[in-house]
Amino acid sequence: MGKKHKKVVVLPCSGIGKVYGAVARETMYELLERVRPDTVATTCLPLLVIKDPEAVALVTENPVITIDGCPKDCAKKSVEALGKVVDKAYEAIKFYKEHKDLKPEGIAEVNETGRKLAAVAAEEVTAEVDRLAAGEGA
Ligand code: SF4
Repeated sequence: MGKKHKKVVVLPCSGIGKVYGAVARETMYELLERVRPDTVATTCLPLLVIKDPEAVALVTENPVITIDGCPKDCAKKSVEALGKVVDKAYEAIKFYKEHKDLKPEGIAEVNETGRKLAAVAAEEVTAEVDRLAAGEGA
């Protein structure tokens, strides 16, 4: 077992105009505000792009889980551009494929069904957060 971590970074993509971008963001809020508020941290993706020192330190010094809204994988690639290998990378559509009864709608923010999908997704991602916080690498 490796070093335990106080924080695990969950980084959704910006996802403007894409429903799965909104699901990615909502999943992160579920984790940050409800499921693991003491462990999960996040930052703005553009801060990594401009190499803001605090944001860069956060993602390079802690385990990172990315959640992207489409195959362009902007969040994952933004982390990798800093020379950091992400510990786990999700595409938000995966959660819908596994829960076809929860079809999300909305792009600025998701509808009620989308929020339910994000809650289910957050439960799945929690296992990964806990594993990484305990120092268990990929
Ligand atoms: S991964 Fe796709 S949805 Fe997310 S910011 Fe990039 S282009 Fe937009």
